[in-house]
Formats: sequence, structure tokens, C-alpha cells
Amino acid sequence: MGTWRRTHGCGELKKEDAGTRVVLMGWVHRTRDHGGLIFVDLRDRSGIVQVVFSPQVSQKAFEIAESLRNEYVVAVTGEVRLRPEGTVNPNLPTGEIEVYAEEAKVLNRAKVSPFYIADNIEVDEALRLRYRYLDLRRPEMQRLLKMRYRTTKAIRDFLDSRGFWEIETPMLTKSTPEGARDFLVPSRLNPGDFYALPQSPQLFKQVLMVAGVERYFQIVRCFRDEDLRADRQPEFTQLDMEMSFVSREEVMGVTEELLSYVFRTVLGVEIQLPFPRLTYREALERYGSDKPDLRFGLEIKDISDLVGKSQFKVFAEAVEKGGVVRGINAVGCGNYSRRELEDLTKLAGTWGAKGLAWMIVEAGGIRSPIAKFFSPEELESIKERMKAQTGDLLLFVADEEERAAQVLGNLRLELAGRLNLLDPEKFAFVWIVDFPLLEYSEEEGRYKAVHHPFTSPREEDIFLLDSEPLKVRALAYDVVLNGVEVGGGSIRIHRRDLQEKMFSLLGLNSEEVQEKFGFLLEAFEYGAPPHGGIALGLDRLVMLMGRRDTIRDVIAFPKTQSGTCLLTGAPGPVTPEQLKELHLIPAAPKGKGQISLIRGAK
Ligand code: ASP
Repeated sequence: MGTWRRTHGCGELKKEDAGTRVVLMGWVHRTRDHGGLIFVDLRDRSGIVQVVFSPQVSQKAFEIAESLRNEYVVAVTGEVRLRPEGTVNPNLPTGEIEVYAEEAKVLNRAKVSPFYIADNIEVDEALRLRYRYLDLRRPEMQRLLKMRYRTTKAIRDFLDSRGFWEIETPMLTKSTPEGARDFLVPSRLNPGDFYALPQSPQLFKQVLMVAGVERYFQIVRCFRDEDLRADRQPEFTQLDMEMSFVSREEVMGVTEELLSYVFRTVLGVEIQLPFPRLTYREALERYGSDKPDLRFGLEIKDISDLVGKSQFKVFAEAVEKGGVVRGINAVGCGNYSRRELEDLTKLAGTWGAKGLAWMIVEAGGIRSPIAKFFSPEELESIKERMKAQTGDLLLFVADEEERAAQVLGNLRLELAGRLNLLDPEKFAFVWIVDFPLLEYSEEEGRYKAVHHPFTSPREEDIFLLDSEPLKVRALAYDVVLNGVEVGGGSIRIHRRDLQEKMFSLLGLNSEEVQEKFGFLLEAFEYGAPPHGGIALGLDRLVMLMGRRDTIRDVIAFPKTQSGTCLLTGAPGPVTPEQLKELHLIPAAPKGKGQISLIRGAK
């Protein structure tokens, strides 16, 4: 660069800088040739500024400007001037000024980029990922990268002020059960053995509590080899925390304060504390989901008691069989056409509903194909329970409880979308507590931990572990934001006997337990303090803060749905020599350049 030294960022220049000589370096965003003058929008990560090349100021610089193409990397020296009246651009932060170029230098040329580097343009995501370095040059992507950095910085500042220590835990480790498949790494030095990449640092952070650390956190990469349906990544980042000598309330309290600090510092948004709380049961009953979106109401109401004895067979029978009749008031949707109602019913079918009953509240009474089965008193009480007014549409599902909750939970979101209630500017946090400790997997014919096997049951429910394990509630909590689960944690088991009991309920035999978790059980025998913690999904959190709808937009180098990196081409084949070194032998070749593996002999 010789003697050139950059003095300002393009986007930093303001009208107060008029008269200053500046040296700018950045990328050519756009050029416009107006015959006698060439205008170049110069871009760097701070923003864009207009540079004017005039032969009157410098013939040499003007000639260089003629050769510039989009995305060339250039250095420009010039004077900041106020734009002439009438040419001020109110849409550009630097729109009141421009820079008159005196000297220019091309630092590097660029090929025609496969897409225009600007926000709000439609580009195929595969192309964006293949040329991620160009995609990340876009102002919106830079905004997100910066917001993510500011978020982790705020997290560290806050937790530091609360006495937490950031401690790294191994990436090459043993399996940590979080309900997913492990990524395995073969050990060259221990033929036939494998490390697992951590699904979370759960076991290490618990061991750190036994080690007397008391308050730990880590912003940490976790690995889960899942089928990448929905918005998941094989590697993702958690804010992982653990504390000793705390109750559930204390962990939840620190987490809330942390989140409110982050939202205030990064977004300037005030979050009301404490967050509302729902038990798992309430969440399912009132919102049909254990991750309810509380940006809007549209609450589910149970009318089983009102219609269980009615003449309408579908409702009466459902209640008789132990099921429920529940509904939602689609406020102001009384003008839905028959066609629209049929479409909704079809949609409900895809969520598992056997049907969808509707009633429209009109000035003269209720209009509905099923109205005739109810007495005027029954209709009145339904209206009252549903808080229905003239012009409302009431939608009902009669089914066993779980199915009804699922259908109505989906219906609630569908209606919110139609009624424009999903406001991206709103942030509605909620805690879900009192999850069941266990669920029964029909598929595997055994109990499974709803969170993970280290979660403590509620003290007062421990006696049910043998007789009615499904009734035992966990000391677990999830934090949900706008209908997205952004974190979860629990108070842990810290006694060997209870932890062993939990493993045996989960169907693990003592040899397996010893092999997998022997070190943890042993640690529990050396003065393990009571402890608990939580992990927040950093990618999801930043996604919501950035008002995006995929975590890929807030990860610098994400993978595709099939787990590949389009930039580097990972995963890729390895050589037979490498396999040999790792004591792996290739199985039948799968095709050109592809090798499938079987585990080598010990
Ligand atoms: N280890 C848990 C997870 O990754 C979080 C926790 O219990 O702290 O989901």
C-alpha cells in the first residue's frame, strides 16, 4: 500500500467532515458514468459513500475510474464536500456529502460476481452459500455478523459481572446423551476406539460443579448428527451455564436478567421481567404447544363440561371416551366463506384432526350446521366461555387430549398468520416449567428422559418413581421466545443413588452405566454440591433478535440441509492411507470418490 493509510470508513463520513481530506479503501458497489463525471459508490463494512471522479480535479484518477467494475477493490484519496442542493440522498446515511477523488489506485480486480451485492435481492441460497464471502459482504449479513458478536460480548460482560468463569471443555470426548446421534472421530493412537464430539458439555459442566467452580459458562459449539429437517445445523452454538447451591428460581432469575441485559445492550429493547410462566400442562391446554407464541392471544378454551351431555353426538362421545372438546375464537373472522372454512378443515386434517366444527356469531344468534343440536342455554354458555362477540368465528375440535392440543396449537398459529398477529418487532418470552421427567417411547418400548437423564425430579414426586413414573414432574424449565424454544435446563441429580435409579428407569444396565457414566457417578461420591443450569441456543436467539427466519443467516459458514458445506465441499473423501492410519478399512466402494467405512478390528 506504499504510503497510503486509510483514514475513515466510507459509512462514517458526515456533513461535519466537509473540507477534510480522506483516504478510503473498499469495494466498488456501483458506478455511474455521466459523461463528464463518474460517480462511484464505494462500500466497506461501515457503509457506502459516493465518490465523484472529475477530469477537472484529476485526469489520472478519472481514467482509473473509467476502468472500475463492481467489486473491484480500490483506494481513493479526496476531499469531502457537501453535496450541491437538490442532490442530497436522504436514503443514505452519508447522503449529505460526497468525496471528490484526487488520486485512486486499484488494489485488486474482481470477476463479475454471480449475484449483485445488495440487500433485498432474490438469490438462490445454494449460490449464496457457495460464494459465502460475497454473500457476507451484503450490508444485512454484516449487520447480523456484528449483532452476533455484540450479543456474545454482552453475554460475557453480564456473566463476568455475576461471577461466572468461562471454561473450555473437550471437543474430543465421550458420548453425552442429548437425544441425538453422535459424530464420531476415530482414534489413531487407540486402534478401534472413537471419540464422540460433544452433543453438549453437560457432563463436564456438572463435573466442574463437583470441582468447586460454582459458576461456569461457555459459549460452545455442540454437535448432533440429526436428520436436518426443520431449521437445524449439525454443529451449532450454545451459551452453556451451570451454578452450584441454587434453586430453580435462581437459575431462571439469572437467565432472565441476562436476556434482558442482552436485549437492552444490543437492541435497545426493554424486556419486562419476570417472564410469564406456564406449566407444561397449562401451555398445552391454553396454547396447544410446549413452546407457545405469546405475542398474541387466541387462547384455546375447553368446553367439554358444557357440551359433554349435549345432543351433538361427536362432542358428547368424545367427552364420554375421556377426550376433550376445545376451541378457539377466531376474532372477527365471522365473514369467512364456506370455501375458506372448508380449506381450514382440510388443513386441520393434515394436523391430525378428524374434523373441525364451526359456529359464526351473528347479531341474530349463532349460525352453524351443528347449532340445532344445542339448547339456547348451551349455545349461550359456549359463547360466554369463548368470549365471543358478533362477527367472531368459533372453531372446535373434539378428540383425545393430546391430538386436540396439537391440532388447536397449529390452528392458533395459522389464524395468527392470517390475522397478521406475528409481529416481528415484538419479543414475548415465557418460561415453561414442570415438564414430566419421563415419557414412554412406544417405538423402543421403554421410558425416555424428556430433557436428559441428569435432570432432577421434583422432591415431592420422587416417591412416584417406582409406581407411576410418568406422573413425576421434573425440575426442568424451558425458555421460549415468540414460539421458538431458545433454551432449556434443570436442577440436576447430584446423588449417586438417585442417578443410578434414573438410569435403571431408562433401561440402562449397570455395565452400560459404568462404561458411559462411571466417572460422573464416582464424582458424585466425592462431595457433589447441589447444582443446576441451563443452555441457550445462541443461533436461534440471534436469529430472532435479527428478525430472520433461518439460523443459517446468523451463522457465518452454515451447512445445507444435507450437512454439506457448499463453500469448501466438506465432507469429502479421504485417502486409503488415512483410513489405514486410523485403523479403518474401506467397505464396498459406494461410487466414484466415495468410500463407506466399517469399523476396524481392535
Ligand atoms: N445440556 C442441555 C442441552 O444441551 C442443557 C442443560 O440442561 O443445561 O439441552
